[in-house]
Amino acid sequence: MSSLSDFLDYLNASMTPHHAVRQTCALLEAAGFSQVDEANRWDMAPGSRNYVVRAGKTIAAWIVGQGGLADHGMSIIGAHTDSPCLKPRLTKLSKSRDMSVLNVGIYGSPILQSWLDRDLGMAGAIWVKGQAAPQLFESRETLRTSGLAIHLDKSLRDPGLKPNPQKHMNAILAANGGADDLREVIAAEHGLSASDITGIDVCLYDRTPAAIVGDMISGARLDNLFSCYAAIRALIDAAGDTQGTRAIVLFDAEEIGSRTSLGAQSTFLMQTITRLVTASGGDTQDVFRTLARSRLMSVDMAHGFHPMHPGATDDDVVPELNKGCALKYSHKGHYADAPALSGGIMKRAEEIGVPVQSFSYRNDLGGGTSIGPIVAAEMGMETIDAGAPMLAMHSIRELAGCDDVDHTIALLRDVFFQL
Ligand SMILES: [Zn+2]
Repeated sequence: MSSLSDFLDYLNASMTPHHAVRQTCALLEAAGFSQVDEANRWDMAPGSRNYVVRAGKTIAAWIVGQGGLADHGMSIIGAHTDSPCLKPRLTKLSKSRDMSVLNVGIYGSPILQSWLDRDLGMAGAIWVKGQAAPQLFESRETLRTSGLAIHLDKSLRDPGLKPNPQKHMNAILAANGGADDLREVIAAEHGLSASDITGIDVCLYDRTPAAIVGDMISGARLDNLFSCYAAIRALIDAAGDTQGTRAIVLFDAEEIGSRTSLGAQSTFLMQTITRLVTASGGDTQDVFRTLARSRLMSVDMAHGFHPMHPGATDDDVVPELNKGCALKYSHKGHYADAPALSGGIMKRAEEIGVPVQSFSYRNDLGGGTSIGPIVAAEMGMETIDAGAPMLAMHSIRELAGCDDVDHTIALLRDVFFQL
């Protein structure tokens, strides 16, 4: 199977961070990785291939190197499993006249207009009385955040639609009647009663699967499942034994600032590295020696050249679709910066023929960031930012280049992991 069609399968099955981590585990298991649990003791040896999951939404995986962590460090690829979306704010369904409406909260910064007039699915995890692990589910229900007819509001024509996140984004579940509470809807699909469900974590998502449009991928959640998939593939397909340890870490909560128990600002990566070192026979000194010899590439999507908005990016540092992953630079600290590391990457990429571009925001525009600066600050390790170019970031229907799937995998697998 080509990496492009395999990626589309991964993307379409990963409608929530819970589902993305489940898909990631399946790919890792099929490649011979086995799970370790944060609550148990770990024993590591050279060549160990394992992964650990925190709360179903954040995951790290690694291949322990032959040379010892403290002496050879780690090469880590970081990305994020979450994407901007609508999430139920209350499980109680509102009734407006006879219409059944789900009150939603806005997770991260989706382009709200793009969520209107779409057929929305509902998926996530439920916690059921008497069961320790949550059940993942995909509801059969379809919801709609409906826009207004242009005849009913002159401002829709000029200045154009600007949905109010509190008033206009709630999702219609039924025109007439229906359940009073979302838990009743989900419980009925699982043969449960609503009172059996003790917790829910649900995302709405576009029911339309991702598609190939010419030489581009059109789909939801490319930011940042594109990079998650490339990271997984790079780790699984990395050739041969190396002295250093190779790893990936896919965090939840990037879109809401990373400051949760599952985000890049959490204890997850530091604890995982500490566990790896001590489970390999090292001590606290060895943890810090490992950090000093390690490096991380934060992989998150970059803004590509847009033919209808050429002035939105800087002509000199804007990547183009299908021409390779971009290294990202920011003088304001929006991206992590390690000149020696990016220099080494550019040099090796050129030597082996992997295309690499550059991205930087205009001085007078832009301000998106990534997990890169957070991990650099928390861990103190050499960190840089990179990502494939895309258009319409945070739309429910984003656009990226087909060839950049392989370009990104090659950059991570053949360049970064081989430095
Ligand atoms: Zn992102």
